[in-house]
Amino acid sequence: MSTKFIFVTGGVASSLGKGVMASTIGRLLQNRGYRITIQKFDPYINVDPGTLNPNEHGECYVTVDGYECDLDLGHYERFTDIKTTRWNSFTTGRIYMEVIDKERRGEYGGKTVQVVPHITNAIKENMLRTSKDNNLDFVITEIGGTVGDIEGLPFLESIRQLKWELGEDAIVVHLAYVPYIAAAGELKTKPTQHSVKQLQSFGIQPDCIILRSEHPLSMDLRRKVAGFCNVRPDCVLHSPDVSTIYELPIKMHEDGLDDVILRLCNVDDNEIAAHSSSCNNDFNEQWKRFVDLRKTSNEDLHIGFIGKYNLQDAYKSITESMSIAGTYKHRKVKCHFIDSELITEDNVEQQLAGMQGYVICPGFGDRGIEGKITAAKYLRENNIPTLGICLGMQIMAIEFARNVLGYSDAHSAEFSKTTKNPVIDIMEEQKNLVYVGNTMRLGGYECELLNDSKAQKAYGKDKIIERHRHRYELNNRYIAEMESQGMVVSGKNPRSALAEIIELPANHWYLGTQFHPEYSSTVLNPHPLFLAFLDAVLNK
Ligand code: GLN
Repeated sequence: MSTKFIFVTGGVASSLGKGVMASTIGRLLQNRGYRITIQKFDPYINVDPGTLNPNEHGECYVTVDGYECDLDLGHYERFTDIKTTRWNSFTTGRIYMEVIDKERRGEYGGKTVQVVPHITNAIKENMLRTSKDNNLDFVITEIGGTVGDIEGLPFLESIRQLKWELGEDAIVVHLAYVPYIAAAGELKTKPTQHSVKQLQSFGIQPDCIILRSEHPLSMDLRRKVAGFCNVRPDCVLHSPDVSTIYELPIKMHEDGLDDVILRLCNVDDNEIAAHSSSCNNDFNEQWKRFVDLRKTSNEDLHIGFIGKYNLQDAYKSITESMSIAGTYKHRKVKCHFIDSELITEDNVEQQLAGMQGYVICPGFGDRGIEGKITAAKYLRENNIPTLGICLGMQIMAIEFARNVLGYSDAHSAEFSKTTKNPVIDIMEEQKNLVYVGNTMRLGGYECELLNDSKAQKAYGKDKIIERHRHRYELNNRYIAEMESQGMVVSGKNPRSALAEIIELPANHWYLGTQFHPEYSSTVLNPHPLFLAFLDAVLNK
């Protein structure tokens, strides 16, 4: 079977859950035995989201090969267990940079470089790229933003062209919103019709329309949308409200989404039957078991996230990983944001009250740093289960150096240029960088675990690969002294000997990772450190 391309566009409003829907489509096709990937094309000018404020744009996700990308890639991986790379995430800025670089090298041979065809050709090439070397059955491409946004036009023009060139190998799935007008007691399809008209005005006819609505949608309403939008009635589906996003694949399967897609892509029945018999039904069953467990786990577990960005999206992969791990422990994890800027020595007990475990969050910049250090001291001294991630681990080291080793000015070189004790210091090769974008230690690095440590017991193995995103490191100069006072480096990079995990064996659970375990935690493969952390919380 030739590779099929599914383009996912959104209409009416943003935040309808296009990323979750693209992930759902991927999951459903995998359930039918197909090999898939999911990629995202974002219309903004930043070359990648690495420099965006997490409060505004949500978390920056990192692929194994060290690419900083949109948080939707986290959904893709959590839903499908695929490993995305730098070829799964593009922005307008990155496409323009590629084209402009080429122009500067004189590769356009004197031609005027234009949006059509040069930008659109670059978009098309990159839209097709992942299919080339991976032997895939389906490539799902999510287009960021809402249909009609000025900056999204080159992407839509590229899809229009690809639909022509690929024929029946390309389909468009359009996700739109159907609002309920309480005063009229009616669901309104007009916004959907308008958004489809807009798509059509760019020469794109959607093949399948998914209506997002909190209310049940009648067959009449679906037929109406079908009639106005030139789509077959059975290709108008409903994306309902779900108690957990992980239930969406089950709901959409019941509504026939995978059948509709296979039919629209002209995958013939023999092919489908052959695939379905070869497909791993356990996968399906495991997913259903997870969702059942999630819906029936009623006991709450309160985890405090000590950070400075908003909790909704800025720590998305951490809160999702924690909540997924919670499901496996038959608990409903409630994530509470604790603003580190408000924490002082006088109020720390009060600010941290009421939680069963704590995460000291990653971050950049010095806002809220002292509050985090104060919190770390309190959590360490009171033997409360604590997981530090990236900056969180660095905070643990600074606090330990200040209050146990007695270096009262211990700090990270990120926050103090004058400290005599840079317990956290910049790496040599990072010192003279001019650009801030894409210049950190990024992506997967090996780490060797110390025998019998909490980390090693959690993983159940000696060697792991975890993803990084940081510029500063634990300064090796302080490690011997730290270890003599009870802090253990339980994970080390075998090549550079950089510290990747620190822990206090004497405490119930006080462990920090320089890497980001949350990037590689998925629904079917919850991360061992999150599971072990919750075990510690539950055993306390
Ligand atoms: N700001 C720290 C560094 O650059 C930590 C980064 C992070 O938490 N991701 O090393």
